[in-house]
Amino acid sequence: MIRNLTGDIRAFTSNVFLVDGETTALVDTGANFDMVPTVREVTDSLDAVYLTHTHPDHIGNVDAVREAFDVQTWGYDTGNLAVDRRIDDGERVQIGDDVFEAVHTPGHKDDHLCFFSRGSGVCFAGDLVFANGGFGRTDLPEGDRGALVESIDRLREVVGGDLTELHTGHGPSVATRPSEDLELAARAARTR
Ligand SMILES: [Zn+2]
Repeated sequence: MIRNLTGDIRAFTSNVFLVDGETTALVDTGANFDMVPTVREVTDSLDAVYLTHTHPDHIGNVDAVREAFDVQTWGYDTGNLAVDRRIDDGERVQIGDDVFEAVHTPGHKDDHLCFFSRGSGVCFAGDLVFANGGFGRTDLPEGDRGALVESIDRLREVVGGDLTELHTGHGPSVATRPSEDLELAARAARTR
């Protein structure tokens, strides 16, 4: 099961997804609110924390979550203090009941990963794309619009016709024809 833990929270934070099943994990930790009790409402233990990238709004709660749950964080760049363990492009990780492939997708930030499960069709897209054709900003350090467009195209190739759910770093998830949102983002990122 996938829950967005930030539904009721008003703070400058990314979405935080708690995924349970065979393993229990967070995708991103959010920032600027007390994450730990929110997690504890659902589970007393976490097997892993996966980070889509290391912008402050996604990793602000990393230390609190590490400490409370004695858990390690996984991400692309272990040069960042928020990342304990490295995930390479193409590496597979178990999140909940499904195996997800990590897809290195720079453009919004150099260390950005998306996670896609071929089995369930679920994708955690971080800040690469959002619902309704939104896409990650590229005006911050490491931002690069050309790289973002390439990364969106790469993700489209990886998911092919198998995408069933798109869970993004901000805003609502998409469970109805999410590949249309992805196509819209690919077009919008080229023109806007
Ligand atoms: Zn970001």
